[in-house]
Amino acid sequence: MTALKKYEFWFLVGSQDLYGEDVLHTVDQHSKIMVDSFNSDPVIPCTLVFKPVVRNSDEIYKVIMEANNAPDCAGIITWMHTFSPSKMWIRGFHALQKPLLHINTQFNRDIPWDSIDMDFMNLNQSAHGDREHGFIISRMRLQQKVISGYWKEETMRSRMSAWMRAAVGAYESRRLRVLRISDNMREVAVTEGDKVEAHIKFGWQIDHYGVEDIIKLVNAVTEEEIDVQMKEYAEYYDMDTDRIESVRYQAREEVAIRKFMEQEKFGAFHTNFQDLQQLRQLPGLAAQDLMRQGYGFAGEGDWKTAALCRIMKLMTADCKGGTAFMEDYTYNFDPDNGMNMGAHMLEVCPSVACERPKIKVMPLGIGDREDPARLTFKAASGPAVLVTIIDMGDRFRMIANDVLCQEQIHDMPNLPVAAVLWKPLPSLETSAEAWIYAGGAHHSVLSYALTAEEMRDFAEIMDIEFIHIGTDTDLNQLRKELNWPGLIWKLKK
Ligand code: MN
Repeated sequence: MTALKKYEFWFLVGSQDLYGEDVLHTVDQHSKIMVDSFNSDPVIPCTLVFKPVVRNSDEIYKVIMEANNAPDCAGIITWMHTFSPSKMWIRGFHALQKPLLHINTQFNRDIPWDSIDMDFMNLNQSAHGDREHGFIISRMRLQQKVISGYWKEETMRSRMSAWMRAAVGAYESRRLRVLRISDNMREVAVTEGDKVEAHIKFGWQIDHYGVEDIIKLVNAVTEEEIDVQMKEYAEYYDMDTDRIESVRYQAREEVAIRKFMEQEKFGAFHTNFQDLQQLRQLPGLAAQDLMRQGYGFAGEGDWKTAALCRIMKLMTADCKGGTAFMEDYTYNFDPDNGMNMGAHMLEVCPSVACERPKIKVMPLGIGDREDPARLTFKAASGPAVLVTIIDMGDRFRMIANDVLCQEQIHDMPNLPVAAVLWKPLPSLETSAEAWIYAGGAHHSVLSYALTAEEMRDFAEIMDIEFIHIGTDTDLNQLRKELNWPGLIWKLKK
């Protein structure tokens, strides 16, 4: 079973009693066939659950309440095979607490020209049933994702898959606990934010521990536990240093942090190089290897990016493409080859590597501690999305930029960290201006496995603002758009 199959999406098909048992039986048969087909398609990452056709207000309310209470249910998918008068849905929709995907499709693809009659029309009328359904969702100001298309086609299925990943992100966001090791880096603004509002909006429980608490755990790690961790490093990485004791210290830090996170059910954590107390090294290799295992991470006290990193990793837990904490670092302003180089002082996730990473021990210019061990590697090429969340004071804003990661032709022998090179869309300059106008952070999460569509769906489910920068971005239009949301979000409050 792949990692996302444990999440259920309940398939609710609407109708009404008017049609008689024969028609309703056929509707059930069709939706069973569709659910089985979705479940056997590798494009669909999660499990669809068939539910018998709902015909009246009581049945709709009952199944929505069951979906609300089903622990593995990450969302509902509605479809009106026939007409299903929408006043019947009001009571149920008032109670709905799960994300809603409304698909507009039809069991048969083509109109059967020679045999079509009124029976066929009455059975296959999602063209107007889904319009009635869409009206009540809009009228009730509920958040819905609408996908129209033929249910057997891959485009429709991959869009359903994108929405499911977003709903999985929302599901995991609601139960995420973030470990803060120390506070934010002094004076930095963008990594700050309202943690109570984040708890209400995203569900993140963000808890602080002093560095001394972590040091006690680090000191309690045994040599045997370090040996086991070192064997794990050997499985994934090549040793490119003879300073084994320094590497063993990172293993010690990793064992301590992982044990604590497992015990306290933390899914993400951050460090702060300014506050290491008696910790001998800033966690580098340790943070990188924990990210490889799916933990969210960010540097300098950035709990928002650490949480986002965790969520995006869980949305793609079944995918090969990597997802990594990232920081815009340096530009290549060559007019023929404009690129942004992302990295971090140590902590780039090896899930984005295109080669076997090497463990190195080198000095770190900042932090005033021993030389930390870290992984270095070249990153993969291909399309990816760069995402950040900022706190605008009265709302959270997510910004996503489509980027094309580039093959790394140069070796950069003096660079002691892993880096990723990308061409941001629509161009380096326009993307940078758009990102800066939008207030985007220097910290972000880069994912080769997600696109802006999943992130937009996630933002809509979480009811936060979403700004997309991509091929179609027109800077003047964007600058206008950035002025409107302040007013809209004030009205929404
Ligand atoms: Mn940073």
